Amino acid sequence: MNKIIALFVAHPDDEIFSAGTLAKHARNGYKVFIIWMTNGEYGHYSIPPEKLKEIRHKECLESAKIIGAEPIFIGYRDAHLEYNMNSILEVVKVIRRIKPNIVITHALDEYHKDHRNTSMIVRDAVFIAGLPTLEVEGEPHVVDSLYFYGKGLKTDIYVDISDYLEYKIKAMEAHKSQVDWLRSTRLHGFDPIERIKTVTSYHGLLAGVKYAEVFTPSKSLSFDFLL
Ligand SMILES: [Zn+2]
Repeated sequence: MNKIIALFVAHPDDEIFSAGTLAKHARNGYKVFIIWMTNGEYGHYSIPPEKLKEIRHKECLESAKIIGAEPIFIGYRDAHLEYNMNSILEVVKVIRRIKPNIVITHALDEYHKDHRNTSMIVRDAVFIAGLPTLEVEGEPHVVDSLYFYGKGLKTDIYVDISDYLEYKIKAMEAHKSQVDWLRSTRLHGFDPIERIKTVTSYHGLLAGVKYAEVFTPSKSLSFDFLL
């Protein structure tokens, strides 16, 4: 049976941080899911939230297609994602439904509240999903490995994405509203495509390959390795 890898992220376009790794796994026989926790409807300087929600939903579908992933939308409101039992159980339901071997999510110390909450929600849901007598729909499921995106201390896992950088860049370009927003706004003001090349080159340099993405394995859950 094919292995399953699931990425849980806060906003549309956050999947880009591991898009190379996901594209690589999709092309090596894994079933890949991307789960967006919120709609990202406040991520623009002028497009009204309801309209932006629609645009970003479509951009996610395009990005998932490029990466080779199946999209799932949980649908919380941007910037309002709460870390509580309701949101944890929503993620438990998804885990029990798609039964991933490997789960990837944000690091616990990221800059955005929705990112940090996603990280905590997913970390707890991964554990709770396996509780045999918990009254949540679906069969209990035990995840083999949990990874947080980004560099940790000593135990980083580098994934060589040299042959998959194009998917990462194309998936970012699919989020056209966000490329514009990131380039132009005073809040961000950088070119995300240039940033992708710089960051993956830097991580590639550290790993001895051309381009890489880096992950920190969860201390208690690392029984299945990224390719
Ligand atoms: Zn985000």
